[in-house]
Amino acid sequence: MTQETGGFAAFNLNPNILAAVAATGYEEPSAIQQQSIPIIMAGQDMIGQAQTGTGKTAAFALPILHRIDPAKREPQALILAPTRELALQVATAFETYAKQMPGVTVVAVYGGAPMGPQLKAIRNGAQIVVATPGRLCDHLRRDEKVLATVNHLVLDEADEMLKLGFMDDLEVIFKALPATRQTVLFSATLPQSIRAIAERHLRDPQHVKIQTKTQTVTAIEQAHLLVHADQKTSAVLSLLEVEDFDALIMFVRTKQATLDLASALEAKGYKAAALNGDIAQNQRERVIDSLKDGRLDIVVATDVAARGLDVPRITHVFNVDMPYDPESYVHRIGRTGRAGREGRALLLVTPRERRMLQVIERVTGQKVAEVRLPDSQAVLDARIKKLTNSLSPLVADAEASHGELLDRLTADIGCTPRALAAALLRKATNGQALTLAAIEKERPLVPNSAPRGDRADRPSGDRPDRGDRERRAPMPLAEGRARCRTALGARDGIAAKNLLGAILNEGGLAREAIGRIQVRDSFSLVELPEDGLERLLAKLKDTRVAGKQLKLRRYRED
Ligand code: AMP
Repeated sequence: MTQETGGFAAFNLNPNILAAVAATGYEEPSAIQQQSIPIIMAGQDMIGQAQTGTGKTAAFALPILHRIDPAKREPQALILAPTRELALQVATAFETYAKQMPGVTVVAVYGGAPMGPQLKAIRNGAQIVVATPGRLCDHLRRDEKVLATVNHLVLDEADEMLKLGFMDDLEVIFKALPATRQTVLFSATLPQSIRAIAERHLRDPQHVKIQTKTQTVTAIEQAHLLVHADQKTSAVLSLLEVEDFDALIMFVRTKQATLDLASALEAKGYKAAALNGDIAQNQRERVIDSLKDGRLDIVVATDVAARGLDVPRITHVFNVDMPYDPESYVHRIGRTGRAGREGRALLLVTPRERRMLQVIERVTGQKVAEVRLPDSQAVLDARIKKLTNSLSPLVADAEASHGELLDRLTADIGCTPRALAAALLRKATNGQALTLAAIEKERPLVPNSAPRGDRADRPSGDRPDRGDRERRAPMPLAEGRARCRTALGARDGIAAKNLLGAILNEGGLAREAIGRIQVRDSFSLVELPEDGLERLLAKLKDTRVAGKQLKLRRYRED
């Protein structure tokens, strides 16, 4: 067990949870997990300052699962998340970690889905309820006792919940829970509003924050690329085409990811190998020696497995999965730029992880420039440059040694030297795409389509058709928002501030809860919180703006 779960074994978590963690392929607890798990296991209240990408979900999910009683078929833990997307993601994480805990069920409760089945699942004894505040309040209105047995509450991304205008809903929920419960609050930032909540609703909370002392990074050129989780492998392959590297190390989070990515690279002809905590010491040394002497060019590693790896040939570090904290980022990229040489570090960032990027920039005091995926022309240029570089040393004495043979062959075949050279090139390049059209055909990604919304940010297989869907996607909405339309527009004498004022006053929303407002001539669009939208629209039913009925409706663009 210890071997399999590494640092997790030290927590004394229920063995079924440890087994599930091992099956997930995590090797070591992240910094936030290291600090939070013992506190939450001990039943204490806690404030965790951490953003997406730090491993915060497991930091509360594992100890909460440890503390619930699977034999009791009633809600015991409530996790509040700002958006449906996050609620689903957290519920999935709980299900993964509870895979080997028979009898434990998880229910996700969010707006936009029928209420009946959600309530039924709660009443049927789901121990873990993951909910968005608006919808949960709707349930409480129907049955105020529904949460009476909850003794663990987690507020995930508390700052986002306040930004989306859930303050009042949170107060309703606090009141519906037993006062003796344990409360854990996670937030990326701790503005006064969050501290006030903590003061009123948490008891003697422990504070957990990843230490972010300033780190210096020198001689390493850093860049980041925004990419959806399911596009990472394609993105890596595209980047490799244009990066001029000697040896390269790629960091991922799990053992499985080391194996998957290394085999995807090998399939494309790269000399690549995986390095993870399951690999025996002698094999590990063989891999490192091969990287040193050029039998291997790429190693795909977890942080644990790469510990102590020092290979001067490494010119590039790809952070395919986000490191858990800035310190680990600095550590990773320090693998390159050795011995005073220039190094290059690339970081793949999924939409949800953009905040983590900002933290890294703050801690290192450096901007990590954004790069885009190379377009087909850049790939073509890079391929031709490689071909030129590999052929040019061969040209020098070839005529002396093989010139006569060439004359004889062209005469025998009855072709020009150009035709023969072209045939030899075709053979040597072995079907590689070397025209713009051929490259465009083989590349599934739309270059430069940096993702904006978070909705597709789900780890899954590489889905090559993503790019097409991206291209068709309408103007993306921020996560957790819905677009609404009114037939009132500029020609009715409406300005954005009239709409804003009416919705703020009549809807009782916080300013931050309202997104973009676009006033067109004959209609207007307003972005509102998805969660609790139906209730809000009902509230605004009789609202009038500039003397006319607002009649705001959900707007579907498809
Ligand atoms: P979060 O910050 O909770 O959104 O987690 C970010 C990602 O890290 C998720 O995909 C998790 O599955 C993954 N993760 C969390 N903890 C670990 C760990 N100890 N080792 C490897 N991956 C992890």
